[in-house]
Amino acid sequence: MKYTPKEIPEEINVTPVHPLVNFAHLLATVAIATVAIYAGLGFVAVGLVSHLSPETEQKIGQVLLPAAAPPPLILEDDRTQYLEQLLISLQPSTLQFRPPLTIHLVDEPAVNAAILPGGHVLIMTGLLEAVESENELAFVLAHELGHFEARDPLRAMGRSLVFLALASALGLGSSSSNGSSALITLTGNLNELHYSRKQESAADQYALSLIVQKYQHGGHSLDFFKRLQEQETALGFPVHQPELLSTHPLTQNRIDNLTQLARQQGWSLEGEATPLPEGLACPNFEECDF
Ligand SMILES: [Zn+2]
Repeated sequence: MKYTPKEIPEEINVTPVHPLVNFAHLLATVAIATVAIYAGLGFVAVGLVSHLSPETEQKIGQVLLPAAAPPPLILEDDRTQYLEQLLISLQPSTLQFRPPLTIHLVDEPAVNAAILPGGHVLIMTGLLEAVESENELAFVLAHELGHFEARDPLRAMGRSLVFLALASALGLGSSSSNGSSALITLTGNLNELHYSRKQESAADQYALSLIVQKYQHGGHSLDFFKRLQEQETALGFPVHQPELLSTHPLTQNRIDNLTQLARQQGWSLEGEATPLPEGLACPNFEECDF
């Protein structure tokens, strides 16, 4: 039988599908994989928040601290010991399984305080110039303790937490400051930890309970917010508020919520103010212009 070769059709090596359709297919696969990894990381981060060991949290804190408060801004100052004692006097026993708390006094005019993963409490010097009684200052510290207890700083890190936990487990980042800054760049700007209003309200409620436990009343602890409220009323709009105060429920709401809580719990909001130590607004309690 004679073999007659078939003519090879021209499109033999070309898929019947249009190349653009193929490209769209590839693109969709990449997009789906990206979304899946992103969502997966989110799940891992949420799970990590409550399962991190105190040691790992501490390592993460060591990486974040220099970014949040550059070392030259952290003051060696006698006021740190006073703040530490005040913080310890507020600390409930439930916090004993978390990393120990450390106070860092930061040379910064902002009226603010913050807490980082690993129990690093940042107190800006501006706050010490603004408070008028120990009760007010204690409320601010207790509010930050509330964030710590609820693991809000870890939650606020979101997916970055996965990378930092991994890096800490592998021993990266904590040994050199270069490594740390590279990690911070990798994981985004962690200077600003944003909390939801719900988290802020919970921290407020927690704070008031600690205050009542310490002083047997909540008197004067909200004066700070009341002064801010007066300022707002005088100006007719909310004044510029740092972390401690922004994203919070509006000042008046905040005072109302806490007053209502006190009523429900039978806590008195009347009581004597505990004075601040002399010279708290000045370096090392020495005389200054404040
Ligand atoms: Zn807060």
